[in-house]
Amino acid sequence: MKEIILIKDGELALKGLNRSSFESMLMKNIKRRIHPFGAFQLKNSQSTITVTPLDENADLDAAADEISRVFGISAYSRAAVSEKDIDKILEIAPEYLKDQLEEAKTFKVEAKRSDKSFPYNSPEISAMVGGKLLESFPHLKVDVKNPDIKVTVEIRDQAYIRGNQLKGAGGMPVGSSGRAMLLISGGIDSPVAAYMMAKRGLELVGIHFASPPYTSPRSEQKVHDLLSKVARYSGRIWLHTVPFTEIQELIREKCPEEYFTIIMRRFMMRIACMLAEKTDCHALITGESVAQVASQTTLALGCTDAVATQPVFRPCIGMDKEEIITISRKIETFDISIQPFEDCCTVFTPKHPKTRPQLKDVEEAEKTLDIEALCQRAVDGIQRIAITSDGVQND
Ligand code: ATP
Ligand code: MG
Repeated sequence: MKEIILIKDGELALKGLNRSSFESMLMKNIKRRIHPFGAFQLKNSQSTITVTPLDENADLDAAADEISRVFGISAYSRAAVSEKDIDKILEIAPEYLKDQLEEAKTFKVEAKRSDKSFPYNSPEISAMVGGKLLESFPHLKVDVKNPDIKVTVEIRDQAYIRGNQLKGAGGMPVGSSGRAMLLISGGIDSPVAAYMMAKRGLELVGIHFASPPYTSPRSEQKVHDLLSKVARYSGRIWLHTVPFTEIQELIREKCPEEYFTIIMRRFMMRIACMLAEKTDCHALITGESVAQVASQTTLALGCTDAVATQPVFRPCIGMDKEEIITISRKIETFDISIQPFEDCCTVFTPKHPKTRPQLKDVEEAEKTLDIEALCQRAVDGIQRIAITSDGVQND
């Protein structure tokens, strides 16, 4: 039996030019994401994208699973393809929908005939297919208002038969909102922030600050594993690892302890902005949430933002930890995040960090450092790798 996938766009409010660039970006993303699973043809008409396998080797199960995580899709379904012949349709429908209908109690059939040369009209098709399904699955009842399964039969270039639609990943196609630099730690929040912003159409470029030997290769591996999970939604992510040891040691040596964290975070912002310019990113993304830790109080966030030359997106800002964890479980990053490897933020943590830092005091506290030279050296030492849902890909 021939089978295809039908995809419905999301964000129906989009109009005009936005709509067509949204659709072409979505088509491109779907094509790229299902490419590893074989040869498929994609067609787009009337806000429905049809994915047709071109040969026996194309893996439709794998493609459908991948499509469930592509942003910009509100719903999708699989459909059997039949000749435009009512006997064929009546033969295929019970066979194709068997698993779904055996589980269901109620159903209805909706027919749509866009090819008016087909000899039966929509109510007639619905009645015939409905009758056939009742005969094949005697436990079923018809419920036109709220059926467990809505069977749709469409007569277009061919006949398409499908059961319920599945919910898509929603959001906007990755890339349609441009590109942003993700500050990724090994924690729970930043992978969730990544997922949320990719969902709004941002392509992600990763930056991670590592302070060997205080941080270990295993904590870098943890970041790779987290991004690999995020990449299941966002597609490939370039990760830039910044050597941060020198800066952290100098802060410890030369700055007042209560400002360690805030000064370190200002360095992260500066370096991330420098790299963002080089990589064509137009915003930063962090996993910060108001009041979660001392460096995330309103005043501390203000001191951090004061050195950012790009907008800082913090999608977790108003979320409780519990809400963040719910998303991290859904995207399967939670179990990786809770592995106990140190992050550069946990190295040199002050005993009594300032929770209400004043910008002028912070600026004064970091005056002893040659900020520009330190940032430049860190940027010069950056190493990059590509991460996909399969793991690390070599440059
Ligand atoms: P997370 O769970 O994301 O680690 P957190 O609550 O532990 O968040 P912090 O460690 O203070 O918070 O970090 C706040 C944000 O700063 C992180 O969400 C992340 O965006 C960024 N960040 C922290 N450490 C690093 C790092 N080593 N490299 C890159 N970004 C980092
Ligand atoms: Mg952290």
